[in-house]
Amino acid sequence: MASIDIPKFQTAAVVDHSGANIRIDHRKCLVKLECSGACHTDLHAALGDWPGHEGVGIIVAIGNSTANSPVKIGDRVGIKWLADSCLNCEDCKKGREQNCSKAKLSGFTVDGTFQEYVVSFVNHVTPIPEGIASDAAASVLCAGVTVYRAIKYSQTNPGDWIVLPGAGGGLGHLAIQYARVRGLRVIAVDTGAHKKELCLKLGADKWIDFMECKDIVSEIKSITSGGAHSAVVTSASASGYQQAVDYLRPGGTLMAVGLPGKSTLEASIFFTVFKSISILGSYVGNRQDAVEAIDIAARGQVTVHFETKGLKDLEEVYEGMKAGKIAGRIVLDMSKK
Ligand SMILES: [Zn+2]
Ligand SMILES: [Zn+2]
Repeated sequence: MASIDIPKFQTAAVVDHSGANIRIDHRKCLVKLECSGACHTDLHAALGDWPGHEGVGIIVAIGNSTANSPVKIGDRVGIKWLADSCLNCEDCKKGREQNCSKAKLSGFTVDGTFQEYVVSFVNHVTPIPEGIASDAAASVLCAGVTVYRAIKYSQTNPGDWIVLPGAGGGLGHLAIQYARVRGLRVIAVDTGAHKKELCLKLGADKWIDFMECKDIVSEIKSITSGGAHSAVVTSASASGYQQAVDYLRPGGTLMAVGLPGKSTLEASIFFTVFKSISILGSYVGNRQDAVEAIDIAARGQVTVHFETKGLKDLEEVYEGMKAGKIAGRIVLDMSKK
């Protein structure tokens, strides 16, 4: 065990019981958190005692008899939604760790990152490289990884057109930047002068305000001379999905990422077949996706736009999220009392 001082009590977002007597078993580590991003999913994860799944901190202890740990005490690591998976099932071996039936989810099936210390898993924490501040890295661990993977599997090549509905939001503003890193041309779809300015500043080639544009489908077809190669839909409303099949060119790929509750995806079967359209679901990312997404951000190619708050401000942050008032992301600083 470490010589680092670990207090018997801690501050957590929900203080039903103290954080004392934490057991750190085999393959587990204790992370002293510096900060945690607040993600929309946390609103729905009320089942977990402690939500939060975009945490960054320092490993202060590793369970006894943990052999071949890929991380050591003192390492700075990130904790993402997928806290652990078995690494031995078919899904894990095929690189879809997020689909593992034994997956543990931060803030949902295991305690999350809205607390000062969290127990996590040595095989799944994400090493954070130098060159990126902890608060800047936090939102990459969920929002960043999610859009990075979706773009990676969007079946696009450099120079292709990609449409990003919800481009000015928490996921969208990162999607613009990851798309640019891959050499794609971006059509940002969102609304309002503030989001327009942000999207264009981040490198979107074209902007469409969905409140002002009368015919988004023909606008996109005209910009792209026949249709976009892909669309990555991150919006949490079904509307972002509806027109995608219409504005994609033949062979185009619709990446479904945003989770609009119980909505169904309405797509013309005729045109999906006739235009050879692929519709793919993409759910967060695996360990390698997280490493790639964070490395790109650490090299300065992707920057998270965030505002810092204290752990005590969580209720207010939730209210802001429900009202759709938050631009970019919110990061909770654990040292801010
Ligand atoms: Zn999330
Ligand atoms: Zn598995």
